[in-house]
Amino acid sequence: MRQLIAGNWKMNGLSEEAAAIVGPLRRGADGLACDLLVCPPFTQIFTVAHILVGSPVAVGGQDCHPNEKGAHTGDISAAMLRDAGASWVILGHSERRQDHHETDALIQAKTHAAVAAGLAPIVCVGETAAQRVAGDQNKVVGGQLAGSLPPGFSGVVAYEPVWAIGTGKTATEADVAAMHLFIRETLVMQLGQAGEGVRILYGGSVRPANAGSLLAVPHVGGALVGGASLKAEEFLGIAKAAKA
Ligand code: PEP
Repeated sequence: MRQLIAGNWKMNGLSEEAAAIVGPLRRGADGLACDLLVCPPFTQIFTVAHILVGSPVAVGGQDCHPNEKGAHTGDISAAMLRDAGASWVILGHSERRQDHHETDALIQAKTHAAVAAGLAPIVCVGETAAQRVAGDQNKVVGGQLAGSLPPGFSGVVAYEPVWAIGTGKTATEADVAAMHLFIRETLVMQLGQAGEGVRILYGGSVRPANAGSLLAVPHVGGALVGGASLKAEEFLGIAKAAKA
């Protein structure tokens, strides 16, 4: 399966900045050996999707509400993301788990809503520094997978150790290998044979310089990229390191 390189812009990107990232991506994306995805803030999804029409670069949201519609001021439904031009959505990112107190149950409901609306979900899991120091990383990630993935889940999982996000610290290849194997085994236990086909992304300070070695680790099905996705050249540099 092709690796997926997904860019999470977080709360970055006014119109001019968005066009400055996406224009070069559009020109540089042809012939890549991986799938490419950008997840701008809600306000830029329509514009970015418009610029990328006819290109192989897909567009996603960074969150959605679990309900189809209704009295939820300030929220965005999965169908609204689709309507704006998104085909993917990131769910359960650690910043949302922290800043918005999102629980596994809520993330599972959002994942269900996303799939029902025709979006491909990327469900994020990962331990904090304290949890890793305590040796609890498998317990934490196993619990997040059990709680966040609906029965029959089809989508992508992103392993993002919280301590590696935006810090410049990257997990070692050995730690990534151990965790991705653990996630694969857990997915197979939860989903049966279908668990073999789920792409498992690594996220946490991925840069062009470390992408080749991280993407070569067994069971790494791509990368979820924050900071480096805001510069087209860096994002394309990571994409060029992906395996066919
Ligand atoms: C992220 O936000 O998902 C992420 C991995 O960020 P960064 O690449 O900046 O660590």
